[in-house]
Amino acid sequence: MISLECPNCGGRVQRPNEKDRYAKCPYCGGEVYFEEIHSTEEFHRLQNTTYQLQQENNVEESNRKNLREWTLMRNIFIGYIAVTNFIAWVLAGFGAYSEKENVTGIGAIVMILSFAAVVSSPFILAHKRSHYDVLNNQIDQGAKIKAFVFQIIVNVVVVLITILMAYVFCLVTGMTD
Ligand SMILES: [Zn+2]
Repeated sequence: MISLECPNCGGRVQRPNEKDRYAKCPYCGGEVYFEEIHSTEEFHRLQNTTYQLQQENNVEESNRKNLREWTLMRNIFIGYIAVTNFIAWVLAGFGAYSEKENVTGIGAIVMILSFAAVVSSPFILAHKRSHYDVLNNQIDQGAKIKAFVFQIIVNVVVVLITILMAYVFCLVTGMTD
């Protein structure tokens, strides 16, 4: 038997006949149209589907937000490593060349600060990395290990490039002439 909740009072209204398009609510006397929502079951099914889609959307949005934050953190690490390493090597190179020990000393301190990020970033980024693969919409159990290995490679490349840039910078500016 098909029944509906009365939109007016919430009472249960039975459909008198398969062909009847509306029925009178026995509680409030209001008219209930069966064409609009065919049955309570159908209505609840739709409600559940809508709720499920909303939940999935929330999870997806939260995963995307996590990835954005993680990517931002990774970019900050890379930028920090590049800048500090560059400054460290320029100072160390210039200090050593001009025999200014205090400049070399500052260079060494900056290098330690840079090295701290080089060593810690693979661990931190792997720890913060979600198992959830947003692009393929699935769980990726190897995501943390991949993030760890990838960050080590990125850090080595960034360090080598910035050392080369510091060397070229010193040559071009004549700091080590
Ligand atoms: Zn009613």
